[in-house]
This record gives sequence, C-alpha cells and structure tokens, in this order.
Amino acid sequence: MSGSSMRTRLHKILHCTLLATIAGLICIAQSAAQEAVTLLLINGRIWTVNPQQKEAEAVAIAANKIVAVGSTADILKLKGPGTATIDLDGRRVLPGFNDAHVHFFAGGSNLTGPQLRYSQSQSEFRNTLEAFVRHVPKGQWITGGNWDHENWRPADLPSRQLIDPVTPDRPVLIKRLDGHMSLANSLALKLAGVDKNTKDVPGGVIVRDADGNPTGILKDAAQALVAGIIPPPTEDQIITAVRAAQVYANAQGVTSVQDMSAAPNVFHAYQSMLKDGLLRVRISGHQPLATWERQAAVGIRADFGNDYLHIGGMKGYADGSLGSITALLFKPYLDAPETSGIASAELANPEQMWHNIQGADSAGLQIAIHAIGDKANNTILDFYERLEREGGKRDRRLRIEHAQHLIAEDIPRFAKLGVIASMQPYHCIDDGRWAEKRIGPERARTAYAFRTLIDTGATLAFGSDWDVAPMSPLMGIYAAVTRRTLDNERPDGWVPEQKITVEEAVHAYTMGSAFASFEEKLKGSIEPGKLADLIVLSDDIFTIDPAKIAETKVMITLFDGKVIASPHPSYLYKRSPSGLILRP
Ligand SMILES: [Zn+2]
Repeated sequence: MSGSSMRTRLHKILHCTLLATIAGLICIAQSAAQEAVTLLLINGRIWTVNPQQKEAEAVAIAANKIVAVGSTADILKLKGPGTATIDLDGRRVLPGFNDAHVHFFAGGSNLTGPQLRYSQSQSEFRNTLEAFVRHVPKGQWITGGNWDHENWRPADLPSRQLIDPVTPDRPVLIKRLDGHMSLANSLALKLAGVDKNTKDVPGGVIVRDADGNPTGILKDAAQALVAGIIPPPTEDQIITAVRAAQVYANAQGVTSVQDMSAAPNVFHAYQSMLKDGLLRVRISGHQPLATWERQAAVGIRADFGNDYLHIGGMKGYADGSLGSITALLFKPYLDAPETSGIASAELANPEQMWHNIQGADSAGLQIAIHAIGDKANNTILDFYERLEREGGKRDRRLRIEHAQHLIAEDIPRFAKLGVIASMQPYHCIDDGRWAEKRIGPERARTAYAFRTLIDTGATLAFGSDWDVAPMSPLMGIYAAVTRRTLDNERPDGWVPEQKITVEEAVHAYTMGSAFASFEEKLKGSIEPGKLADLIVLSDDIFTIDPAKIAETKVMITLFDGKVIASPHPSYLYKRSPSGLILRP
C-alpha cells in the first residue's frame, strides 16, 4: 500500500468514526427527546455483546427499546420525571437469552402435567399423581408425567392397579421420561378397547400379567393404541401450556425462543396470544420441511413476522440420536458393531429430501436440518453445497441442528458455506458421560467441536432442545466452558480442547441465535435501537470460577422494556453427589 493511499484510508476511518460518534450522540438526544425514557439501569457491569463497546455501566430504555448505553453519570442525565431506576449494585447484565432450539408446547404440556420425574418410590409416585388429579376435571385426560422407575428400589414397573384407586374417573396415559413406554389406567385401556384379546402391534408390546391381562404398561408403538384416542388439545389447553413454558423460560433469563415444532394448532395459539398481548417471549416458529409448499403457496419467505412472532424456517431430519444408537455414522458403533445408525425417514429417500430442500430454498424459506451423526452432517453439508452451486450464493442462513459429530474435514465447511451450527451444549456434558464407549476416543475429538467450529469461522447458535434437556442457558454456558460431564467424572472436561470462553458462549446464546433467525438487527446485544430484553445475574459469570456458572441465578428478566421475572424464587440446580440435577 502506498503512503498516500494509506493516508486516504486512515482519513476515511477517522472520518467514519467521528461521524458515527456524532450520529450516536444525536441519536441518543433525538430518541430521548422523542420518547420519554421509562427505565434506567445504573451502576451495573453490562456485557453488551457489541464489539464496539463491550462493557458499560448503565442503560436507558424508552418503552420497549434501548436508547442509550454508557456510564452511570451519562445515563442519569436522561432521567425524566416519569423514569424508573434500577440500581444494579454492581451486578452483571447480559442481553436476554435466545434459545435457538426448543419444543415449546411439548415442554409446556409437561410442566402443566403431573410432575413424576423425581418420585423416589411407587407410593410417592401414586401420591403425587393423586394430588395432581384433584385439580383436573372429571373425564379429562391426564398425560405427560416423565416418570422414572429406575429411581425406585426395587425398580419395578408401575401398573394400572397402582394408580386406579386415585384415578377412577379420569383416563390416564403417562409416559416414562425417555418416551419409550407409558402407563395407562384401567379407564384409559377401556376407552381404547385394549384388553386381554388385543394383539401386540408391530414395534410395540402390551405388557401382560400371568393371566394375559394388560398391566397398563405399553411399550413403544403400543403406546399409540391409547394415545391415538386422546382428543387433540384445545386452543385453551395449548395456551395454558405455552404460558407455563413462558414462565419457565423467563425464570431462566430466556426472552426469545426458536420453536422447532410449531405445528399449525400451536402457531394458531401463538397468534391468539400475540393478539391478546400474552406473549412473554419472542417466538420464531419452524414448520416441518416436507410442508414447505404450504408456506411457499401463500408467499411466506424467511424472516417474516414482527418483533414477537416470526415464521419462515423449515425443519427437517437427517437421522436419530447417539443415545438410541440411531445417529447416522460413517463407521459402526463400537458398542453395537452391527450398525452405523439409521437415516431418518426423510433422508431414507434422498431424492425426495433434496427436492424439499431445493424447493424450500428457491421459495426463499430458511432451512434447518437435524443432523447428529458424522455421516448425516456430511450428507446435509453436501446438500447445502449443491444449493449454492446450483442456486448461486445468497444470504440463506442455512442451519444444521445439533451438528454433534463431525469428521475433521467437514468442520471448515460450516464457515465456507455459511452454515450455522445450532448446538446444545448441555447435551455435551450429558452424552459425554458415555459417548466414548459408543464412538471411541478418536471420533470424540471432533464431537461437539465448539472450539474448532469457532476457530474456522463458523457462527454458533446455542439452545437447549428443551424439553429433551433443561432450558437453562447458564447451564449451557457452564457446559460449553467447562465440558464437565454431569457425573463429575471428568473435572477437566470431556475433550477439553473443544472448550470455549464465557464470552463466546454468551455470544452463541444471544447474537449467534439472533443471527440464526435473521434478527440480529433487532436483538442479541445491548445497543441503542435494539429491543429492551435484558437480564441481571446473581454473580458475574465472567469472573467467577467457571464451575460455579451453573449455580448462577437470573435475578431479573426484562422483556420488552418491562420487568417480568424478579427475583428468581428458587435455584433450579443443585449439586448432588451424583452431579448436577434439576430441582423438582
Ligand atoms: Zn429438538
């Protein structure tokens, strides 16, 4: 570069910086004048996720927007007669978390059902159910449950005889936490016509007693014999579940979610809630990839909606999961050498899947595909590469959901193709307990490859996969930073070279996930003009021992400029000898 062009460039940079500063000041002055400042947060340690101004002390909010970020002294100058002030007393503030992968209605339904997961015996299980049943109208189905007989000694399966006395007039079908079996009461079996003479169904088992009568336990496909007769939820029931999910989300500091299963009836409920002013999280709803034509037919494209409700993402599946030995791998499982996993029903017909991907993309919709095994990820990356080759480069924000197991050569392809790795760090410390038995140490080196993905330039968007895992971003940040498995067996972390920093994990849970839904100009950082979604933490996760991040609490959640959760009444996690567990 010649001396003069260097000077010109420097001059340009200085000029732009000066202009930006002046523009910023004018912007503060204008918004303050136009719209009354409603709330000030002062004396805090604000992590903005804005690279131009990483740290600040104070924020000014007018209605639902951030209008200024700076020092306490400067921000206090914006105080008007009607301005409320929160003195943060040195506490850490972050942008509200954006969970990039949840199953919101299913999670909410389980919250509004009986809470059986932590029952330690058959009698506690029955008593908890009995207490719940009192609040349910007669005749109404009782579902959910998430019970786990492995907590009981002896670990005997429950039977209909155990629960019939407390549920004589309400049909019950409650599932085990893995979803592979359910317990029905006698009334439910009767309504479904399941008795001694009912034959087992392919892929399912009706567990029977010595006389051949069903015990109430239905395994795998047999669950559908009863589940199939449960009436679909009414809109009121869906709204009740979603509101419970919102309360839970807000308590975790979550102010935006990306719902991977926003079925039409659920999306209707979201619309009703939007209209009635009931939304307390911003929702981006994904629809099944195979239904892309429905959206294309009415002209919906990616990033359609408003600040509260958003649509235009299509979710597909490439494979299963590592836990159930169905993640699609290049090489066989170590502990199940007869299999390398299974392609999903969608990927089993690759031509049809390509047709859907290509069709959705050319209609301008966004594509997000679940891929866990290395071969599943490789196949989807190939599809995405083909999209760019045949359709040209554009800002598609293609996503792979989970991206758990990757061959080393595929990691740089995420950045190269602009594919967002939408990952759930909690799964890493959960699977990390046993994953090496299944895939061996070599393949483990590129499992949940947060570090290498970031180093090769990929965007990470973090989420929870709730309610497969708890919706706790702080737990997720702890997981990404420490990689300490839930059993505490690996204090230095599972595959420690893939750890990332707190700053990087926070970015993935805020800006990264905002980018993944095309909303990075609206949210994801604390800067003037962005939506006022912020959280206040009990401890500064940037300075405390990373092992303590999981115990940090969300003290205040601010959504749309208003305090909606404060202070967090109970601490969701506690440390136990067997590791970190969710409090009941
Ligand atoms: Zn999921």
